[in-house]
Amino acid sequence: ASLLSIQDLHARVAGKDILKGINLEVGAGEVHAIMGPNGSGKSTLAGVLAGRETYEVTKGSVRFDGKDLLGTPPEERAKAGVFLGFQYPVEIPGVGNLHFLRTALNAQRRAKGEEELDAMDFLSLAKEKAKLVQLDAAFMSRSVNEGFSGGEKKRNEIFQMAVLQPRLALLDETDSGLDIDALRIVAGGVNALRSKDRAMVVITHYQRLLDYIVPDRVHVMAAGRIVRSGGRELALELEEKGYGWIGAEGAGKA
Ligand code: ADP
Ligand code: MG
Ligand code: MG
Repeated sequence: ASLLSIQDLHARVAGKDILKGINLEVGAGEVHAIMGPNGSGKSTLAGVLAGRETYEVTKGSVRFDGKDLLGTPPEERAKAGVFLGFQYPVEIPGVGNLHFLRTALNAQRRAKGEEELDAMDFLSLAKEKAKLVQLDAAFMSRSVNEGFSGGEKKRNEIFQMAVLQPRLALLDETDSGLDIDALRIVAGGVNALRSKDRAMVVITHYQRLLDYIVPDRVHVMAAGRIVRSGGRELALELEEKGYGWIGAEGAGKA
């Protein structure tokens, strides 16, 4: 059975129907890319899965590891291993990045019946994981996303994922505003975190990221639906032809 199973998912934002029947199966160990033009509902899908309260689910079901996800409060989803990196991370001045992360990790550990990590053990874990995305110690202890550049925010997101070891990672627009070095580092982190127990859904408007992260499946969203699914060649086709052909045929398929 799939780790993530989405059936006929409909959701609305501010009274407007955005997701119009999403069906998606993601197995453990798989990396799926979701592409699609701006406004097609990619971030809405990620937000619904993470339980962001902006979104109202009007129909459909989502199962994660065989259990109903939509009825599970957002904090419980996080503890169960659902991780959503932020597209435009909220800035929380005054809260240290590491403190924030240790709190999240220990909540997850308690939920699994594992012992909490003390400050020292956590610090050595964090230092080890920071190497993956080439973050230095000064960076790790800065306030959450305070004064981080776009590239740093994204590296921080991968760092958080490396520490939290989620079972389902949702990475939204990981390539936006990244120079090529940061892109490689982020992709390297994602590739290093591939695991047979973990599913990753990488959401991107651009094909470029997929030069570095080779997905098992590519899905294209248009107007709140998945209108195409295929292998990585679909991403190459999109790069060549743009989204125009998808949009037109997608609308026709409705
Ligand atoms: P994508 O990530 O594919 O660019 P989004 O999920 O961000 O698409 O947006 C899908 C649609 O939902 C867009 O038309 C967008 O304007 C609308 N939308 C998203 N968030 C909100 C919001 N908080 N309030 C009103 N409309 C929103
Ligand atoms: Mg957008
Ligand atoms: Mg988006």
